[in-house]
Amino acid sequence: MNVNKVIVYTDSLASKPRGLTIQGIGLPKEKNTDRTSHNRAKSCLQKASAITTSPVVAVSDLDVSYRTFRGYLKAVENVSLTLETAKIHALVGESGCGKSTLGLSLSRLLPEKRVIYSGKIMCKGTDLLALHEKDVERFRGTEIATVFQEPMTSLNPVYKIGEQMAEALGVKRHRDAIYNRSLPKPQMSARLLGASDDSIITRFRRRKLYQQFAGQVNELLNKVKIPNPERVANMYPHELSGGMKQRVMIAMAIAEKPSLLVADEPTTALDVTTQTRILELINSLTQEYGMSVLLIAHDLGVVAAVADYISVMYAGKIVEEAPKKELFENPLHPYTIGLMGAFPKGRKDESTLKTIPGVVPQLGRYPSGCRFHPRCEKAFDKCPTSIPRLIEVKANHRVACYLHGD
Ligand code: SF4
Repeated sequence: MNVNKVIVYTDSLASKPRGLTIQGIGLPKEKNTDRTSHNRAKSCLQKASAITTSPVVAVSDLDVSYRTFRGYLKAVENVSLTLETAKIHALVGESGCGKSTLGLSLSRLLPEKRVIYSGKIMCKGTDLLALHEKDVERFRGTEIATVFQEPMTSLNPVYKIGEQMAEALGVKRHRDAIYNRSLPKPQMSARLLGASDDSIITRFRRRKLYQQFAGQVNELLNKVKIPNPERVANMYPHELSGGMKQRVMIAMAIAEKPSLLVADEPTTALDVTTQTRILELINSLTQEYGMSVLLIAHDLGVVAAVADYISVMYAGKIVEEAPKKELFENPLHPYTIGLMGAFPKGRKDESTLKTIPGVVPQLGRYPSGCRFHPRCEKAFDKCPTSIPRLIEVKANHRVACYLHGD
């Protein structure tokens, strides 16, 4: 039998995951057990140790406000984060807590006319918030790349995978030329593709671009462990499974070997097995490229598999942060404890899944004092009246709750 003829384009044929546990929030005891994996991990660690652990991006006192008909409303408030080389920093919380706003703010992807930033986002010695909007383009993709939540809506359904990836690579190659000539990106992108306007970029032009970058496209698809990359490059997004589409998005994001990869819920809507494979891929690329990853998720079980450090976000603020092991072994904030309790453990005696009562408050309708107090079982008289500060209760473990100091 010719095995080439039985390739099915789903994520299930990608490399078999090892050592990742996302079914429960128990920590994986050992990430690699067999000899090959051991050697691979050792080589990754050697590469990683050659890179000094230093902050790639340092966020301090960041506020992000949206302009609405009710005035400017803060979606992110007083957030400080340090994202280090070759580390995965997870940002966890329910939907509507400001995680995606924070992730998009790092490369200023939010519409500039609709938001106001304050604070600092330092990337390689430059404060991105102090730059003109046009100058931030130099950092997007090159220093900070983003993988968005929904790959189906991120990929253009009418162009082949290879054509879309080639366009990204073409923009990369011509980036300096683009900005040295001070032309807006869409206009230059059109020029790159040989057209005078974006609206008349033809399929023919895109195909030519793909022919030019076919080798690099295949190499990137190989990097994200897509079998038979030449064939996948000639397919349309709807012909691929969700996991494969997400791999393509990751391949496009790492095309410029960014220093920071912002992965915004990269496993949402994927089945559990595919989630594991995508997380394993992100984990291995983190080590291989020595890049930092901000992994945004609403599921603590997902981040348990790969994160080094975890920040828990509620109603626009960080309420607890600690190294993964410390956070799972010693969660302090009632919201973190609630998130962990709401995860199915798979025990026989577990009849009812615990939930956190109530919902995340709407933007601009935050309660007074501790924003979590209407949902907190442990709230007492001080909680609704004053705001707890994020304070360090142990080395590298910070929490904003009156039960733990202040
Ligand atoms: Fe609960 Fe009060 Fe702590 Fe807020 S400060 S989490 S309301 S105990």
